Amino acid sequence: MSSDDPSPRYIFITGGVISSVGKGITTASLGRLLQSRGLSVTVQKLDPYLNVDPGTMSPYQHGEVYVTDDGAETDLDLGHYERFLDQNLTAASSVTMGQISAAVIERERRGDYLGGTIQTVPHVTDLVKERVRGLARASGVDVLIVEVGGTVGDIEGQAFLEAIRQMRYEEPRNGTLAIHVTPLFHLKATNELKTKPTQHSVRTLRSMGIQPDVIISRTDIPADESITDKLALFCDVPAEAVMTLETARSIYQVPSILEQAGLTDLTLERLGLAPGPCVPGRSIRDWTDWTDRLDRTERVCRVAIVGKYVELRDAYLSVKEALIHAAAQRRASVDITWIQSDDLDEADEPQIAAALADVDGVIVPGGFGERGIEGEVGVARFALEQRIPYLGLCRGMQNMVIAFARERLDLPDANTTEADEQTGAPVIALLDEQREVSDKGGTMRLGMYTCQLHPETRARELYESELAHERHRHRWEFNPAYRDRFERAGLVASGTSRDGALVEIAEVHDHPFMMGSQFHPELKSRPERGHPLFLGFIDSVLAESETALRHPAGATNLKSPLPEGEG
Ligand code: GLN
Repeated sequence: MSSDDPSPRYIFITGGVISSVGKGITTASLGRLLQSRGLSVTVQKLDPYLNVDPGTMSPYQHGEVYVTDDGAETDLDLGHYERFLDQNLTAASSVTMGQISAAVIERERRGDYLGGTIQTVPHVTDLVKERVRGLARASGVDVLIVEVGGTVGDIEGQAFLEAIRQMRYEEPRNGTLAIHVTPLFHLKATNELKTKPTQHSVRTLRSMGIQPDVIISRTDIPADESITDKLALFCDVPAEAVMTLETARSIYQVPSILEQAGLTDLTLERLGLAPGPCVPGRSIRDWTDWTDRLDRTERVCRVAIVGKYVELRDAYLSVKEALIHAAAQRRASVDITWIQSDDLDEADEPQIAAALADVDGVIVPGGFGERGIEGEVGVARFALEQRIPYLGLCRGMQNMVIAFARERLDLPDANTTEADEQTGAPVIALLDEQREVSDKGGTMRLGMYTCQLHPETRARELYESELAHERHRHRWEFNPAYRDRFERAGLVASGTSRDGALVEIAEVHDHPFMMGSQFHPELKSRPERGHPLFLGFIDSVLAESETALRHPAGATNLKSPLPEGEG
């Protein structure tokens, strides 16, 4: 601990007016900045919805479901926290009102509150405080940063805010810090920035008993001092604690911007914390050395992501970030073409050729349900035959296996039983192992499993290790009944469970790069440490872009209309 007082400090981050103003990135960035001053930090997200976790929500509702080592299905902000802090989080970092409500009801049924009327205050708020303090205690950190999902004023979030109000009252004066993140509105007609929405939001927060200590205002255009002065006056926050955060080129620039704005110094001062010796590699200088790489790239990797949820880029957030990390390690940037797999016809090779005309590699990411599978299998088949670098992530691995079976094993109706229960060649199926998981109350293989990498395979070479520890989120598996046939034809299981029963990585020999993992490697990629499988993929994409001029000219491009950039 870096101050005389060893009790953990709490930073509460709330959002105002609208969502998607960068609250999660601000939270992750502040965590990284505190680490740079030698403090130990962890992060927790409080999500106000009544689902127990986002596992059952559609990606269109919620974006990517981020899975932790211990198998919690969580909000995608946990991915930002893990990437910025280079820290593996656990289920304790993801609290939803659904979990809190379920726990209160469970206690009530057990008779814990016998005779009492169960109320939001104190029963719900007590449990929230227990979860927050419990994590601070268990992790032993100097600082716990708690981000509240949604925006101030949401009905669902009120109990969280009330718990925070109580904690601010109960903890020592320098024990907590409240940061409010809001947008400044730019009026084009008069070219003015408007502070009123922020003023209203702060008023709402104050009506809940929380006076913010710091206001961070996101803006698309530079804001001058008159704006910060106005916010300071109307919101009762000292001018030096009102910071504007201009929309950055990349999310990875945000820590440096906030450092320059003085957020780290102010936080240490308000919490009465003295900086300590910084862990090697964690200084702000290390971070900017890495982000500078993003601006000094020499090559471009043109990659297609072919999936069923491409309309919402957040659905594949970690995949996109993992590509950025691996490419940066090779001094390259990434140009992603988003392709809706549903629009593709498995049998229409010219259509698929046209869709992939402008890329040098393909990623087929995760997904659930039948929709889009055939288009993805078509893409995998095309990549197989045309020797285009291919990386399959979970469902993308399954579709690669199906494509290979149809093309090379003479099994034209090969399929996953997820799409066709009656298929004569269930190369992807529900296995007994999976049924055991279901019997234990789960419906999926979730979280970290150890993978044994087999000699003389590309995967083994890339990992430079005999074992890998990777995160899963799926029900279906490679059907071992077909394994020998696959291996004889050149698709080998380069990674398996330690007992050899489950295929974790499959790769095609005699192909520049065609690999699929049953797990989600993108969840373990870190900015300064690209994931081995992504590095292998990027290397072959770069090699491809230097040699190939394979595609027919003038082909129509099925590029999705979504703009590419940092989200
Ligand atoms: N739907 C497939 C399964 O459940 C793949 C899941 C995924 O891609 N995460 O096995």
